[in-house]
Amino acid sequence: MSQTDVDSGISQLARRQVRALTPYQSARRIGGQGHIWLNANEAADSGEYALDCSRLNRYPECQPPQVVNAYAAYASVAPEQLLVTRGGDEGIELLIRTFCEPGQDSILLCSPTYGMYAISAQTNDVAIIDVPLSAERQPDFDAIIAKLNQVKIVFLCSPNNPTGDLVDQAGLCRLLTAAKNRALVVVDEAYIEFCPEFSQASLLADYPELVIIRTLSKAFGLAGLRCGFTLAHPHVIELLLKVIPPYPIPEPVAQIAAQALTESGLATMRNRVAEVNSLKLELAGQLSKHSDVKEVFAPNGNYLLVRFSNGAALFSRMAKAGIILRDFASRPGLADCIRITIGTQTEMDAVLNVLQQEQ
Ligand code: PMP
Repeated sequence: MSQTDVDSGISQLARRQVRALTPYQSARRIGGQGHIWLNANEAADSGEYALDCSRLNRYPECQPPQVVNAYAAYASVAPEQLLVTRGGDEGIELLIRTFCEPGQDSILLCSPTYGMYAISAQTNDVAIIDVPLSAERQPDFDAIIAKLNQVKIVFLCSPNNPTGDLVDQAGLCRLLTAAKNRALVVVDEAYIEFCPEFSQASLLADYPELVIIRTLSKAFGLAGLRCGFTLAHPHVIELLLKVIPPYPIPEPVAQIAAQALTESGLATMRNRVAEVNSLKLELAGQLSKHSDVKEVFAPNGNYLLVRFSNGAALFSRMAKAGIILRDFASRPGLADCIRITIGTQTEMDAVLNVLQQEQ
């Protein structure tokens, strides 16, 4: 029996939705000879941490109290309103597994947006209703409200990945009122530290259907740690706790997360945010002067989505120079669009150099 026969025999055993799935294009799955990685909205540095390995013989707490308490204080919520997860991605997955009946329920998303809402829905045999962002790149709140009786969870993202736009608070409140006892409304705030004044977390007190996703992967510089948070009404958290595996947060992860959330950890994070925001505005200014640049999208995260006159050509010129960006050109409405993560000053200079080189 040849290797291909074995492979196809085994793949027939997999669930139908899994066979049909195109997996998430994760940062480390991309090949190529890059030396400047600006494709996954990671931070340019991680900070320094100390580890105590003396308790590794014991299973960790399901919800490490030092992390729960520190993040609850940071986010101004009660500890009962918070779940620590393996990255924001696990929160997204758990919400779908906890609230959506496979083969029966649907989620709603507003494309173009973060890819994992659709992937988690597909792997769990949950249908997807797409209500694309409006021409002003806002969720179409009237259209979403009209579909509420068909969906269990609405996923919004603010700042939206990849467009950078923020959700309008008045529209969100209208949606939350309409969603009462009907559907959850998730606002994914993975990038909110780059514009904290626009967080919707203060609405948690008034709207039990609101869920907020956060992460240490972006502004905290800890994408390799795999630590995220779901903020929600205590009843939602209780339900998620039934589904989360028994020991989701490894002990070393809890130790590092707790250090990241101390006064000095938060100060480091805020300095990183200030640095990224200033490099971002500088880059946006330089880009918008360039004749190959048609549009620079909203600068609210640690990235800029940019429409070039020829996105594919620009992407491969950057790749040849060892600069790996994220190509969104195949997404509806995003022809010629490339997303650039804000890295160091040197990395941003390298991007501008390639752009300015004569072709
Ligand atoms: N939400 C958004 C909008 C993201 O861009 C990401 C990371 N790319 C995540 C959630 C998940 O991040 P993590 O699992 O690393 O916390």
